Amino acid sequence: MTDKKYEEMYDVAIIGTGPAGLSAALNMKIRNKSMILIGNKNSSRKVNIASEVNNYLGFHKIKGKDLADNFIKHIDEMGIEIEDVRVTMAFPMGSYYSLQTSENQILNAKSIIVATGVSFGKAYENEESFLGRGVSYCATCDAPLYKGKTVAIIAATKKEEAEANFMAEVAGTVYYIPLYKGEVEVSSKIQVIKDIPKAILGGMKVETLELENQSLSVDGVFILRDSIAPAQLIPGLKVVENYIEVNRKMETNLAGCFACGDIVGRPYQYIKAAGEGNVAALSAVAYLDELEK
Ligand SMILES: Cc1cc2nc3c(=O)[nH]c(=O)nc-3n(C[C@H](O)[C@H](O)[C@H](O)COP(=O)(O)OP(=O)(O)OC[C@H]3O[C@@H](n4cnc5c(N)ncnc54)[C@H](O)[C@@H]3O)c2cc1C
Repeated sequence: MTDKKYEEMYDVAIIGTGPAGLSAALNMKIRNKSMILIGNKNSSRKVNIASEVNNYLGFHKIKGKDLADNFIKHIDEMGIEIEDVRVTMAFPMGSYYSLQTSENQILNAKSIIVATGVSFGKAYENEESFLGRGVSYCATCDAPLYKGKTVAIIAATKKEEAEANFMAEVAGTVYYIPLYKGEVEVSSKIQVIKDIPKAILGGMKVETLELENQSLSVDGVFILRDSIAPAQLIPGLKVVENYIEVNRKMETNLAGCFACGDIVGRPYQYIKAAGEGNVAALSAVAYLDELEK
């Protein structure tokens, strides 16, 4: 990511590159708003893995991979870039939002559109209460706090192996708990533990990670998921049963924060997600225009 992006105040930051986020992005572009679009550069896994899609208007019997390629081609042709990082936290700052990324960058935008889908797992026991007191969602950002210490990394996908290797250069001991199938390829300094995390325990700070078959004494627990539950992603956001509460304009309880797609509720469908992305973008445009008056 260039320094310029780091310094910019964007009109909107869009989190997620599934049909909801991409649809929001192209509508923001049409309305000439500056944006940063954050997520997987190949669109969402949930689009890519569908064997055949029959209910997306105009694309009868299309393979999910082909639909994803069409989405990305459309975005490319409109000159929209994707920042292929993960947002680890988004902080409401009053008149704007500050987003921390998995690359430990801070991005600022006057409004945000949350289109993160619903792939997050259930939080571990005490995960939320230890956030900032030993629980972190970003190894790159918080590794320096654990110099010479003992940490556990719970990894949802293979791509977190790079984060673990980075952590092993800083921390004293790194336990790596992969939640995915297949070979684990990490530095020989890392202890790979195949077990199921259950709870995080401690006093003022994290002390123990409880797994199904053992307990680990640790100073920190890094939980690296593809997506983070919305209440943890954005402090103060109103969430009901893990869905972000929105009205028909896709407005949340926070001024300038909009949400769309699976993250706001069922049915889980591509065309519903894309339609809501469109509504969220138009509502964000109205919000930004009002700010400028
Ligand atoms: C196997 C399968 C087949 C399906 N088939 C159909 C079908 O035929 N027809 C149909 O209508 N629907 C189908 N669906 C449902 C459809 O996939 C979803 O409804 C749709 O993808 C939701 O779009 P979305 O943009 O809301 O979320 P998603 O597609 O889930 O996209 C969200 C994106 O945001 C990213 N993200 C999350 N958190 C962050 C973060 N913090 N920072 C950066 N990026 C983040 C995620 O990694 C993901 O890439 C299918 C789903 C599956 C799993």
